[in-house]
Amino acid sequence: MRAFLKLLFRNRLAGMGAVFLAVIVVLALLTPLLPLHPPNEINTANRYLRPLAEGHWLGTDHLGRDLLSRILWGTRLSLAVGFAAALIAAVIGAAIGITAGYAGGRTDNVTMRGVDMLMAFPYILLALAIVAVLGPGLMNALIAVAAVNIPFFARNIRGVTVGIAHKEFVDAARLSGMGHARILFSEVLPNVVPVIVIAMSTTLGWMILETAGLSFLGLGSQPPQADLGSMLGEARSALISAPHTSLVPGAMILLIVMSINLLGDGVRDALDPRLRSGALSRPAAATLVERKQVPAPSSEGLLRIEDLETQFQVGRRDYRAVNGVSLSLEPGECVGLIGESGSGKSVTALSVMGLVASPPGVITGGAVRLDGDDLIGAPYARLRALRGNRVAYIFQDPLSTLHPLYRIGEQLAEAIRVHHPVGRNEAKRRAVQLLVDVRIPNPAQRIRAYPHELSGGMRQRVGIAMALANDPDIIIADEPTTALDVTVQAQILKLLDDLRRSRGLAILFITHDFGVVAQLCDRVAVMYAGRIVEEGPTAEVLEAPAHPYTKRLIACVPELGGGRRRLEAIPGLPPAVDDLPPGCAFAPRCDKAAEACRSGEVALQGQDRRRVRCLFPEPTTEAAQ
Ligand code: ADP
Ligand code: MG
Repeated sequence: MRAFLKLLFRNRLAGMGAVFLAVIVVLALLTPLLPLHPPNEINTANRYLRPLAEGHWLGTDHLGRDLLSRILWGTRLSLAVGFAAALIAAVIGAAIGITAGYAGGRTDNVTMRGVDMLMAFPYILLALAIVAVLGPGLMNALIAVAAVNIPFFARNIRGVTVGIAHKEFVDAARLSGMGHARILFSEVLPNVVPVIVIAMSTTLGWMILETAGLSFLGLGSQPPQADLGSMLGEARSALISAPHTSLVPGAMILLIVMSINLLGDGVRDALDPRLRSGALSRPAAATLVERKQVPAPSSEGLLRIEDLETQFQVGRRDYRAVNGVSLSLEPGECVGLIGESGSGKSVTALSVMGLVASPPGVITGGAVRLDGDDLIGAPYARLRALRGNRVAYIFQDPLSTLHPLYRIGEQLAEAIRVHHPVGRNEAKRRAVQLLVDVRIPNPAQRIRAYPHELSGGMRQRVGIAMALANDPDIIIADEPTTALDVTVQAQILKLLDDLRRSRGLAILFITHDFGVVAQLCDRVAVMYAGRIVEEGPTAEVLEAPAHPYTKRLIACVPELGGGRRRLEAIPGLPPAVDDLPPGCAFAPRCDKAAEACRSGEVALQGQDRRRVRCLFPEPTTEAAQ
């Protein structure tokens, strides 16, 4: 609740609306206690007194009634009717919407067509017709306003419910044996309530306006009872001679409706969980860069990551996700980046093309050189020209990266046409060729398939085809086979390996699986808590891991036909990256750790490409000989 209020008041306009509305509501509630003239007390001797007249702050109307008293009583009535109408419309509309959306099928069809019919009538005409049937009066105006707004709620809520009714957690509830009523109340309703509140808060002002409209026409509150609409209606004849009699209720309506709408917008923004988590605040086009110093230029290698530091700055905390990572990639080479979940592999990969979301991501140090040119802090246009063109990504779950509503052929063609201005037919021809390259059978038919019509392995092939679309030099594959089963994984790995050899691709392959690294990678770098703790040629690292962490990671991999052995899980958990221990981050979980490991920085040492960040490394192959 406090978080909600904080969010709400961060929005200045909504805060202003809340304050105005609170003042008005308090005044309306206190009206019977205030020392006011009775609202219907007629005194024809005092007709049309101007504001600030003695005893009548806001003057009097055509019957000499005190305007201040009438406006307060009228506001009270209008607010009450508006709230009541909104509540009735919300409850009935939501009930219809939830039932129709959850039941689906014929129930949904029949109710919704009924609702559509109601919606087809112009609003105010429908309200007029209802009042005409029921007869004029405030109560009937309330019923009319509530009734014409029910379809609006029913439609809105039904739409949301349809989306929720097919979610996995609802299926899970059904599987656990819950009845429909319980599912509706405990699973569906809580997800719909924010939408109901939002719809209410944004329509409340409108309903107050409609009630006032009916009263203005003489169909709502009846004389002598004052509400805002009837006051306006009575003042209409004296608009020129005594404008204050119209201005006072008019200003009040304006104030109420405006503050309700401002507040309603604020409530909507603060209640939406997606807005709250900042997911809808669009990240910058490229990751924010705040480097204190730039490493000296060097021009070795195709891609060189040097001392890269990427942090997430959330509130006062800095999550040091990547903490001085150096890595290089030669043409045609496949380098594995391996580590537990959360060790910073993805953030390293995304930093290369400035794809880490900012806020909260910030690159605070290091360089990423492609052919010797630094990409960190490069202008957005340059990054965009390179993304997908020279450096392409493959992600873990192609179902979430492919657009669900476009055929895969269209998406492949789009990927090509972003960087190459070719015609439709040429793009299509290339799309088919790409599917051939990734060994998808029947490519000419397959390009017309939607992502959901393909299996996981096929989708990942499409993901690879998309990455290949512009003949990149480098592919960064972030756990591309993690979501696949082993046989499909083996096919995909083989495909990547073939493509790399035939096209001379350099691949940075991210995984948490040493088995995969062994199959595909020439070199491997092991990451822990945002740092590389060991790197070297794959065979050497697998044969004789030097870092205790690598050793234990390898020990976690089961071996087929390797006889019975205990699989050792690594005790403890990886450290939180916002509070890294001094010294070696693995020390708390390491059985060799000594005092020196916990106090000082441990550097990455070694010659050539075989390096390890440990004070007590295991003997490597050469040393053992
Ligand atoms: P992985 O090695 O599994 O790919 P990531 O690179 O995704 O790990 O994450 C590295 C670290 O960065 C993790 O500790 C994670 O909690 C943190 N992190 C990732 N994204 C965010 C974010 N948006 N805000 C704060 N921390 C984040
Ligand atoms: Mg990851």
